[in-house]
Amino acid sequence: MNRAVYPGTFDPIHLGHIDIAVRSAAIFDHLVVAIYDRPAKHLLFTTEERVTMAREALKGMDNIEVMAYDGLTVDLARQVGAHAIVRGLRVISDFEWEYQMALTNRQLAPEIEFVCLMTRQEYAFLSSSIVKEVAMLGGDITRMASPSVIAALEEKRRELDQQQGAVPLVSLRD
Ligand code: ADP
Repeated sequence: MNRAVYPGTFDPIHLGHIDIAVRSAAIFDHLVVAIYDRPAKHLLFTTEERVTMAREALKGMDNIEVMAYDGLTVDLARQVGAHAIVRGLRVISDFEWEYQMALTNRQLAPEIEFVCLMTRQEYAFLSSSIVKEVAMLGGDITRMASPSVIAALEEKRRELDQQQGAVPLVSLRD
């Protein structure tokens, strides 16, 4: 069976991520969407929340499974029997980072291939940071995220608003 891992922070999952996941699931027999537990980033959502939102957003995709992980992505790939790691590419700056990661990971696990899928044009500008920022400012994100993510962001906005009286946008950036 051809298995692949699609790793990321997914804080939260958005339509650009979903598009890459769905297209990967058409290439591979089984796709593991792997949510990194402790990225070196400021997170808005807990690991559990990010997993729940991704599961909800990808509901009905029978060959996609969502799980949290920590440690090296190549170790996870080996654990789940995946021979490929999928990433999405938006702009040239993504490429530089992905290239560095791919070469590093190849040194760690030469048997695992890296597959980069190009974003769809309509999602080329989309990032989790943008979705969070627009949502926290009360903007319309219906063309950026799925309904459960929109609801979760709305809830987070209310929570943050109550806690601090103002939404600290700077701390919400990746
Ligand atoms: P990171 O892993 O850098 O924290 P994310 O978790 O947001 O980034 O994204 C996981 C993967 O999805 C990365 O490969 C990223 O390039 C890709 N990705 C993010 N946004 C998009 C998009 N709009 N279109 C295609 N791929 C994307």
